[in-house]
Amino acid sequence: MLLLANNEAWPGFETSVQMLRDGAVSLDAMVAGIGMVEKEVKVRSVGYGGWPNMLGEMEFDAGVMDGNTREVGSVGAVPRTLAVAALAHQVMKRLPHVMLTGEGAQRFASEIGFAEDKVLFEDSRRVWGERLQQELTPQQLAKFPNIDLAPLSRTITDPERVRDTTVFLSADARRGIHAATSTSGWAWKYPGRLGDSPIPGAGFYADSRYGAAACTHTGEMTMRCATARTVVLAMKLGRSLSDAVALAVEELAELDTGFLAGVVIHAVDAEQNHEVVNFRCEGEVRYWLWKDSMPAPVLRTAKRVTRK
Ligand code: ASP
Repeated sequence: MLLLANNEAWPGFETSVQMLRDGAVSLDAMVAGIGMVEKEVKVRSVGYGGWPNMLGEMEFDAGVMDGNTREVGSVGAVPRTLAVAALAHQVMKRLPHVMLTGEGAQRFASEIGFAEDKVLFEDSRRVWGERLQQELTPQQLAKFPNIDLAPLSRTITDPERVRDTTVFLSADARRGIHAATSTSGWAWKYPGRLGDSPIPGAGFYADSRYGAAACTHTGEMTMRCATARTVVLAMKLGRSLSDAVALAVEELAELDTGFLAGVVIHAVDAEQNHEVVNFRCEGEVRYWLWKDSMPAPVLRTAKRVTRK
């Protein structure tokens, strides 16, 4: 049994480990752990602690994938519910659909008894307001929000303020291999922007026969390369885990137009090997690992890879 998650998972990782030890269904254990991350205000990239879009509104994205069945549930741009990984899980379980967004996702949340939460943390509102004051002209400020936001998206949108999403992967010979993600997306994103975290194949993918992958940081790159799917498909075609991840990195490195920045790929295979690589992200990137042979989870540093 193995559980892998990125650094932001700290508020919930132990809970997921304990549930897995107690025999829980893997996705239930990961969604419960992510639920604790979503509530933790100290995590500044997921749930309540995250940053709003350009209009100062929160929009949450999440996805889950059951690698045994390849069923997926995902939600995007959810405005008033924090527990979006759990919501994505319910989309998978209850609907004939894979993905719900915006008010439709909110409606579904209410129908199945999820609370409408207070979602905008006071400090995030303050920083957002200060940023607007800095970046907008007095004329734009006077008219805000009735101004064109698109020209601002090159200057004000701040992918670097968001250090991560949270991603969890679990691999178990009996229970299979599964993936779950949750994020508030890029700080000051254009309203309605979806990143890769709710997009199966880009931000996450799992197939219990081969492995799973999940990405953090620049969704605008992993969506163009279908990075998570590339890793799993390469394993299906016979590549080792590290060669599969290397192929996905090569594809990211081939991009030379559009928004380019860092990506972290987290991946596991069916033999319970794991690989976490940092492609072009500044600073040290850490991740959590637990195997049932370990007394407690450990925090490790991702391998830095460079191309071109
Ligand atoms: N990948 C996420 C997104 O593009 C953000 C992040 O992980 O930093 O929304």
